[in-house]
Amino acid sequence: MTSPDSSTYPYEAPVSAGLFARGQEITPGGVNSPVRAFRAVGGTPRFMAEGSGPWITDADGRRYVDLVSSWGPMILGHAHPAVVEAVTAAARRGFSFGAPTEGELDLAEEIRARMAPVERVRLVNSGTEAVLSAVRLARGATGRPLLVKFAGHYHGHVDALLASAGSGVATLGLPDTPGVTTGAAADTIVLPYNDVAAVEAVFAEHGGRIAAVISEAAAGNMGVVPPLGGFNAELRRITAAHGALLILDEVMTGFRVSRSGWYGLDPVDADLFTFGKVMGGGLPAAAFGGRADLMAHLAPSGPVYQAGTLSGNPVAVAAGLATLRHCTDEVYARCDEVSALLRGAASAALFAAGVPHRVQQAGSMFSIFFVPDERQVRDYEDARTQDVTRYTAFFHALLARGVYLPPSAFESWFVNAALAGEALDRVLEALPAAARAAAAAPGDGRPADQDLSEVST
Ligand SMILES: *Cc1c(COP(=O)(O)O)cnc(C)c1O
Repeated sequence: MTSPDSSTYPYEAPVSAGLFARGQEITPGGVNSPVRAFRAVGGTPRFMAEGSGPWITDADGRRYVDLVSSWGPMILGHAHPAVVEAVTAAARRGFSFGAPTEGELDLAEEIRARMAPVERVRLVNSGTEAVLSAVRLARGATGRPLLVKFAGHYHGHVDALLASAGSGVATLGLPDTPGVTTGAAADTIVLPYNDVAAVEAVFAEHGGRIAAVISEAAAGNMGVVPPLGGFNAELRRITAAHGALLILDEVMTGFRVSRSGWYGLDPVDADLFTFGKVMGGGLPAAAFGGRADLMAHLAPSGPVYQAGTLSGNPVAVAAGLATLRHCTDEVYARCDEVSALLRGAASAALFAAGVPHRVQQAGSMFSIFFVPDERQVRDYEDARTQDVTRYTAFFHALLARGVYLPPSAFESWFVNAALAGEALDRVLEALPAAARAAAAAPGDGRPADQDLSEVST
């Protein structure tokens, strides 16, 4: 690993290590969501103690510039005063009633105001729940069973959508879907991303039985792989021609890459959209929405059942609403600017160190693929050609220099609007050393699929 010098944090993090050991005695793998465990990059996952603006501080008292931003939600930076204020005020009024509250309408209306094709919204608690509800609605409304998804896309840990999934499934190189019955998986068809011909072919064969195509609006869970050549518009055209629905999953991109998410950059009118992450402002709130006639199939207007004890929770809604209201054009412009600066600086440092790589972006979301031939990464197969030994070295060199990257080569980096001044300088100053560490990595092309024995130890 990176040898620490006087200006870096030591590789060992004793307080986090102690907490991680304690964690392993109480929860599988010591964490409550797999990628957090640092399995793909090795070393001790940092337990976080607090965050403020662009900074997070771990249990050992070390400060990092945060380029994960809770996987997207903290677009304004940590503990933004207006969000803290809104959450505190909501908490004082009571946490949950199991009855409707006005704030839910405010949040749903804010979403609708930003997303022209969304006429009706239902609030839920997580992106996973948004997706599973949208899928049930699509099947209920069309009366058809089949669902088409793309390899490397992640839609939460929904049974029917775990096949060839991105995010932690890709990070850990897990085999397809133990725990998912063949029945639950049988109605899912997995296709390569950005391959219109494959979609045409599957519709030619099964068209009348396909309820929906679901796609990340721009893929960010296998690293960042945007839709190419009007791919989303092609999905719209093909699904419409066969009476199937299009579900664009904007849980990651929604209200992050523009005020209207990916839709703001590539306006394709899907039938249903799913949201999460930014719209909860760091608390558990998510949503799905779409055409009014379609959404009317949901209970209590219609027969497709969907419900939740904490759906539209007042405190979570307050966090989401305050976050969205502060996500102004200036916030998006700032994220774009910082993202462009970091992409350019990272790429320049890697070129200078002679490290083959490719930087890909979807709006302000971006990631670096350490691919040997520097070809464009178009799908999951391409993404898996990256050399994860280089990412590991790059990651640890930055961690030692107080910069917190996603602990996986299969994830997007997320900037936030608070990233400026000393925090930005710290990243820019750390990149050349990180690039040299990547150059010195074995670079032996260790396949991204890990041996399962590594995963289970
Ligand atoms: C994060 C994510 C989900 C799942 O959301 P959770 O809140 O983690 O359940 C679904 N779809 C996409 C595109 C995501 O990035």
